[in-house]
Amino acid sequence: MKKKGNINVKTENIFPIIKQFLYSDHEIFLRELVSNAVDATQKIKTLKTIGELDANIKDLRVEVILNKEKKTITIRDNGIGMTDKELDKYINQIAFSGAEEFVNKYKDANTKNSIIGHFGLGFYSAFMVAKEVEIITKSQKANSKPVKWICDGSPNFTMEEAKKKTKGTDIVLHIADDSTEFLEESRILTILNKYCKFLPVEIKFGTKIDKIDDPKGKKDDKGEVVKVDKISDNIINNTKPAWTKFPANLKDEHYKSFYKELYPMEFSDPLFHIHLNVDFPFNLTGILYFPKLKNNLEVQKNKINLYSNQVFITDNVENIVPEFLTLLHGVIDSPDIPLNVSRSYLQADGNVKKIASHITKKVADKLSRMFKKDRKDFEEKWDDIKVFIEYGMLTEQKFFDKAKDFSLYKNTNSQYYTFSEFTEKVKASQKNKDGKTVILYTNDPKEQHSFVKTATDKGYEVLELGGQLISHLISRLEADNTDIQFARVDAEIIDRLIEKEESTISKLSEKEQEKLTKMIEEEVDKEKFTVQVQNMSVSDSPIVITQSEFMRRMKEQQQLSGSGGMQMFGSMPESYNLAINSNHDLISKILEEKTKKKRTNLINQLLDLALLSQGMLKGENLTEFISRSVSLIK
Ligand code: ADP
Repeated sequence: MKKKGNINVKTENIFPIIKQFLYSDHEIFLRELVSNAVDATQKIKTLKTIGELDANIKDLRVEVILNKEKKTITIRDNGIGMTDKELDKYINQIAFSGAEEFVNKYKDANTKNSIIGHFGLGFYSAFMVAKEVEIITKSQKANSKPVKWICDGSPNFTMEEAKKKTKGTDIVLHIADDSTEFLEESRILTILNKYCKFLPVEIKFGTKIDKIDDPKGKKDDKGEVVKVDKISDNIINNTKPAWTKFPANLKDEHYKSFYKELYPMEFSDPLFHIHLNVDFPFNLTGILYFPKLKNNLEVQKNKINLYSNQVFITDNVENIVPEFLTLLHGVIDSPDIPLNVSRSYLQADGNVKKIASHITKKVADKLSRMFKKDRKDFEEKWDDIKVFIEYGMLTEQKFFDKAKDFSLYKNTNSQYYTFSEFTEKVKASQKNKDGKTVILYTNDPKEQHSFVKTATDKGYEVLELGGQLISHLISRLEADNTDIQFARVDAEIIDRLIEKEESTISKLSEKEQEKLTKMIEEEVDKEKFTVQVQNMSVSDSPIVITQSEFMRRMKEQQQLSGSGGMQMFGSMPESYNLAINSNHDLISKILEEKTKKKRTNLINQLLDLALLSQGMLKGENLTEFISRSVSLIK
């Protein structure tokens, strides 16, 4: 008996809207339908456990079958099935109102792509790609009759008794003419791989093209051997991905092989992992990996995948995971993250905030444990993980509070210290006359070699602090510790960087110093260089080029924080200080030279040597320096 019906349409007609809905995201129909099929199989399990159903729960599976000839995709499950009453209730009423609600919400959202993963459209998403949809279903309930439901994308449907031997549901999509891309095997495989790779029930994919003779040789009415469809044995998914297991049952190698499963293209093993497992006040499981970096530039976002009950949702976890952790790799699975809402809404969601701060705490705790448990191992990993940690310290106060105890600073002898260990170590020798402890650092030990050497020769420690974030981190540490001041080794001559009470006396009189300053100023670009005669040690270089800590940091920070700043500072010329060592023999010699030519030669030679030690002598000036040097030797 055929029953005709009319879906209770409140919105004018939701199908055209569904059809247009999220144009680029049509592929999610498959995720929605396969998820429903998986749910249907899971429901059997539940009913069986509570004793309400006596069914076979061994071979539960979902098949996706592509038929190019008939232009159909069938999603078949051997799950709970539906009776005609259930079909009427769930599909005609509930699913419809769900879809309608979703579409209404979507219509109002101003940016379509800001909706997380577009989850929740459900069964009716089939109409994004199909001109007609059939449901052929037989309930697991005893004595249920199979039912067939057909809808052509208008609010009208038909329901009638059907022929179906096996229990479960077939959803048959007659693919619309503008969606034939979904009749390509490779396209379907890609979609299944993306969304269904870790579903908890076996998903098989096959095409209906390959027919084989029935193994038992059954004949049909005409006496011909019946051919049956061969569904491939290829299982798309891993039904028990590592994150769903107990951490206690997993070894390091399991985590590593799961990493390979997630990122088949990734060559190196991750450095370590954090297994997340929370069930209160929200549900969240997952594994986060710290990737091995080849260089800082390689840091990539969107490597964390968000799942909801093992269904892939998105690889854009912005606003769910704290910004600095989006640099990590791995998986997060939480059914408690509201998915069909916009990202800006998500940012304000209480649960999501808790999730973010929980993840931050877990990461900080893990790092802290690693640091305490095996300091040496932690130090070996440090260079790879520091960018995450420094980024986290600068962006999350709570993370900063924990990380300050395990974040490390390496000196030029490759020894690692925590901040407090280091300040404790140097505070006696590196305190200046104002009582501040000066922390010397270099961002490039090779380029600043002469400065590093001068400092270490004096018995000072120099830290290697590199990377884009460092000037921000330094400012932050200085703000928190007012008795501490950072200075890059080339910011001043060493005795000025750490200024002590007792000062070196100058060999030259004030008059001589003035004369000397004038002589040198005549030879240099005064816009670029400020000449200062200084009382340095006899063993220091005759001329040292330095760049003010303040100016340099300002520039670095402005450059990092955007173009506005760059413009402002970009137009400003580079400026340096020329420290002239008044106690150096060659400097006194300048004043003693008899001819102007000889004097100019000597000044320029010393200037060039200073530039050379900074890697600043280039092009024509370098050529000139070499020929001058040759004639001086002659
Ligand atoms: P949701 O899955 O979010 O509830 P859907 O629109 O996808 O919404 O589906 C509505 C209802 O239809 C489901 O809750 C379920 O009861 C029923 N249903 C859908 N697909 C199947 C299926 N393959 N087997 C059994 N029941 C199904």
